[in-house]
Amino acid sequence: MSTLDHRLTPIYDEVVQRNPGESEFHQAVHEVLESLAPVVPKHPEYADAEIIRRLCEPERQIIFRVPWLDDEGRVQLNRGFRVEFNSTLGPYKGGLRFHPSVYLGIVKFLGFEQIFKNSLTGMPIGGGKGGSDFDPKGRSDAEVMRFCQSFMTELYRHIGEYTDVPAGDIGVGGREIGYLFGQYKRITNRYESGVLTGKGLSWGGSQVRTEATGYGTVFFTDEILRARGESLDGKRVVVSGSGNVAIYAIEKVHQLGGTVIACSDSGGYVVDEKGIDLDLLKEIKNGRRGRMSDYADERGSHANHVAGGSIWDVPCDVALPCATQNELDEDGARALIRNECVVVAEGANMPATPEAVRAFAAAGVTFAPGKAANAGGVATSALEMQQNASRDSWTFGHTEERLAETMRAIHERCLTTADEYGTPGDYVAGANIAGFIRVADAMLALGMI
Ligand code: GLU
Repeated sequence: MSTLDHRLTPIYDEVVQRNPGESEFHQAVHEVLESLAPVVPKHPEYADAEIIRRLCEPERQIIFRVPWLDDEGRVQLNRGFRVEFNSTLGPYKGGLRFHPSVYLGIVKFLGFEQIFKNSLTGMPIGGGKGGSDFDPKGRSDAEVMRFCQSFMTELYRHIGEYTDVPAGDIGVGGREIGYLFGQYKRITNRYESGVLTGKGLSWGGSQVRTEATGYGTVFFTDEILRARGESLDGKRVVVSGSGNVAIYAIEKVHQLGGTVIACSDSGGYVVDEKGIDLDLLKEIKNGRRGRMSDYADERGSHANHVAGGSIWDVPCDVALPCATQNELDEDGARALIRNECVVVAEGANMPATPEAVRAFAAAGVTFAPGKAANAGGVATSALEMQQNASRDSWTFGHTEERLAETMRAIHERCLTTADEYGTPGDYVAGANIAGFIRVADAMLALGMI
């Protein structure tokens, strides 16, 4: 790990001491503090008000028990979390993740990232995150429904359109949001559409929300390439993952003239030199919740499935890690650099390790952090909240244009901020500093909160 500015070291040490064992949270804090070194001397008012220390501590953390009955009639127990990190810019906003790896440290890291990401969008949303160690894989619809109902039976008292607005993340899609919203409505007797985002189109959802994170990542990548005088046209692209973010990243790359030649799941990756067949991928992943190995079997001689291994060994011009945190390590980065990859943009949250990010910087590979590159999902959630508040629904075209506009604005904000603070072209510094300054100034304005 690189060293921090001496004025920021005590803040990091305190985070480590107060949150023992939460390595992902430590990593996320360290990365932001590294970027803030040039901000500290320019803004003594932040230090005077302990803004950075305050930002590193969640405003509220909720941990609860989630009992539910499985299909055999046995009682199962999971843990639920909601970390309400910062509400300076608006209601806490961020997804729910259902995955066995979820514990408080993961939720804190995601909630912390969400503060800066949401700030960068320029929209009125604070930062939060939640989830459970429940594993939806292999569970029936009825089991998922009972779990969601039990989860919401506790969560409902902490959320609300003006308080905290959850959405989906890994393991939480339209089906889960439906069961959660249904239970919220039933308990409260209020059709409060603005309490959750990622809803279905016929019951308060927004066009483009499903596609937004993946599309947004590709819009951002397109902006990076344009700034270099290039485009996605003819580019070979590798996308890790095959969930919601990956699927719609692949769709947009293909619409913009690039070819996605590989994607993956936890069992391995597929290389398809003709370009990933999206209809087949959607049918396998969304339709029957199947595996990438099924894709290779059905696609025949075009596609090759590699069990295990690293998708980053596949030569490409652009890499979009869209699976999960720390999936792209230094070895992966070195393979991409060797194969002359020019742009890496994060569709997932913190998929690149600090060592990988440093390797990209040293090799001159343009790297876009998730806080900027995957902000399209939450930005479109904010558009869903706008539509709910005005009891309106917009067309696909209008909503997609608003998303594209937001991604262009974030890109611009990253570059101008990086210039202003003496690190031209550094998207990590630009995203962290621009995201930080908007929250920090608002915290100062709001007094001792
Ligand atoms: N889970 C998404 C993210 O990481 C979206 C959150 C939201 O829409 O509130 O940003």
